[in-house]
Amino acid sequence: MNSLWLTENNVEKNFNNLSNDITTDVCIIGAGIFGLTSAYYLSKSGLKVTIVDKSDISRKTTGHTTAKITSQHGLIYTYLINTYGEQFAKDYLFANEEAIENIKNIIDTENIDCDFEKQSNFVYTTDRFELNKIKKEVDCVNTLGFPANFVTKTGLPFEVAGSIHFKNQAQFNPIKYVYGLCDCIIKNNGEIYTNTTVYDVKKADETFTTFTMGGSIKSKYVILASHYPFINFPGMYFLKMYQSSSYVIGVDTKKTLFNGMYISSSSPTYSLRTAYYNGKKILLLGGGSHKTGTPVTYDQSYLALEKYAKQLYPNSEILFRWNTRDCITLDKIPYIGPFSSTMSNFYVGTGFNKWGMTSSNVAANIVCDMILGKNNKYSYVFDSNRVNPIKNRTEVKNVLTESVNSLAIKKLKNSTVSFDNIPNNSGGIIDVNNQKVGVYKDTSRKYFCC
Ligand SMILES: Cc1cc2nc3c(=O)[nH]c(=O)nc-3n(C[C@H](O)[C@H](O)[C@H](O)COP(=O)(O)OP(=O)(O)OC[C@H]3O[C@@H](n4cnc5c(N)ncnc54)[C@H](O)[C@@H]3O)c2cc1C
Repeated sequence: MNSLWLTENNVEKNFNNLSNDITTDVCIIGAGIFGLTSAYYLSKSGLKVTIVDKSDISRKTTGHTTAKITSQHGLIYTYLINTYGEQFAKDYLFANEEAIENIKNIIDTENIDCDFEKQSNFVYTTDRFELNKIKKEVDCVNTLGFPANFVTKTGLPFEVAGSIHFKNQAQFNPIKYVYGLCDCIIKNNGEIYTNTTVYDVKKADETFTTFTMGGSIKSKYVILASHYPFINFPGMYFLKMYQSSSYVIGVDTKKTLFNGMYISSSSPTYSLRTAYYNGKKILLLGGGSHKTGTPVTYDQSYLALEKYAKQLYPNSEILFRWNTRDCITLDKIPYIGPFSSTMSNFYVGTGFNKWGMTSSNVAANIVCDMILGKNNKYSYVFDSNRVNPIKNRTEVKNVLTESVNSLAIKKLKNSTVSFDNIPNNSGGIIDVNNQKVGVYKDTSRKYFCC
């Protein structure tokens, strides 16, 4: 079944597929929310932008999200302060807070009708043993200079033990929003090609060539906005993150619904918000997260959500069921910036950890500032070339093991790659004592292994 967003906006945007060779300033691969936001900003700044997608506009993760626009990414601020210190946590928070305002500004400036509404966001627990965690998070967020408060009363149809409350967050219909972005990109002389799969990107001198079946695109800059970076080397993102799937149901509760957006802090995680369908408010209930690739039954995924919905609203009717996946980084922070330190003018934004509505806007701003030669004070937080995540050898091993069936590894699994036949500025997976090891060889023949 399609998502609510794709059902409501079932008239697809009509774009051609690429059928000849073209030249542009910036080639953007992927028309999800990150690619389109980047294209919006860059085309507005006067650059010639071309965006290509293998499918139609935002048919993948963005078309199946729950679209809460919030800087409250679970209980992340206690973790960020403990791991990276206050200034870092503050910059993460305010980068995402600015993103909420940026999205609102785009909607207001461009008159995009996308059901945007300001809402409070809550991370709640029904378990009194979790209360200390919630209270600690409230203290941490307040230390950062943001007014969060602890509440025990919410709009939810059940009692909570406690909750952290962020005001002035938002929700919208993501497909109506990205369709609005498409109109602006075209108005700003950008080009969009759908049903155009990119299979490779090569750089010669200072020019990139992006190859598709229908033709190639020459450009000075490339942004890889394909969600999971399908180009493996030299970026090696397949070592630095994994994918997680979750399920969403759309429910006609036959009752007056709550205000606000909610997510539970403890397992099983439930995410709740409302949305409009045929002019009526319905409940979106999400949950059932698991590492993508793990076999999961209907009972464990949709049925578990349906039973919970019926427990909350006994006479309810299930209208929609959908699922999608997002990229999860090993240190909970997205990768935004240069695709690799060895490849200038090639950028990436990925690993949004199921918080891609604000993260994609943060990413678009950072990458566009890099292309336009402007400083961005938040870029260091999301540095795509940081090595900390791959120092976590246990997690990398887990990711690698789980990636064994992924396309990236499958391609390499049967090849007899050895240290010697890995070209410079490239990488491979090699067997060392029957263990798979990721290896990258830089331009000076220095090896990096994990
Ligand atoms: C169930 C669920 C609920 C979520 N809810 C929220 C939420 O409430 N709030 C929030 O902030 N975030 C949420 N997220 C996360 C958010 O939806 C994602 O982070 C975000 O949509 C990712 O956008 P994207 O543009 O990076 O990827 P996508 O939307 O997947 O776009 C990537 C595009 O690249 C194209 N592409 C891929 N490969 C190629 C190729 N070779 N050639 C050409 N094109 C290609 C694809 O077709 C696709 O259109 C949720 C995630 C999940 C899984």
